[in-house]
Amino acid sequence: MTWTTTRPTKPGEYWLSLPPVSRAIVGCAAVRAVVVHYADAERVKLYVFINNIESWPVEHSYWDGAQWAERSVPADPFAISHHHVWLHKSKHQQRCKHCGQVRRWNGTRWLYRRQGQLVRQRPECKRQP
Ligand SMILES: [Zn+2]
Repeated sequence: MTWTTTRPTKPGEYWLSLPPVSRAIVGCAAVRAVVVHYADAERVKLYVFINNIESWPVEHSYWDGAQWAERSVPADPFAISHHHVWLHKSKHQQRCKHCGQVRRWNGTRWLYRRQGQLVRQRPECKRQP
């Protein structure tokens, strides 16, 4: 997540932080969750919504000096890991418990078997959910 002084140019969920001097005037939290979306049928003008009630246009002077950061949705905590789980096969070979991918130690690095060839790039685990 990165902060930017550039105002949102597309609808979405954002973190908003007003400069400390403005916070003192309006009495708001340092960081607030806001939603930016079009408020007119023509979908021309973007508005910043706070608590889904108050709203001001994105270009309003109220946001002068503010910083914005896109709110991203965290990864699904119930999602199955797509990492291989390596099992020992022989001295220099391992095999993924889930997808059967084979990798071979060449003395320096692991090489992955792919369509009969050994490649450096590790393929994703093909584990079935
Ligand atoms: Zn695997």
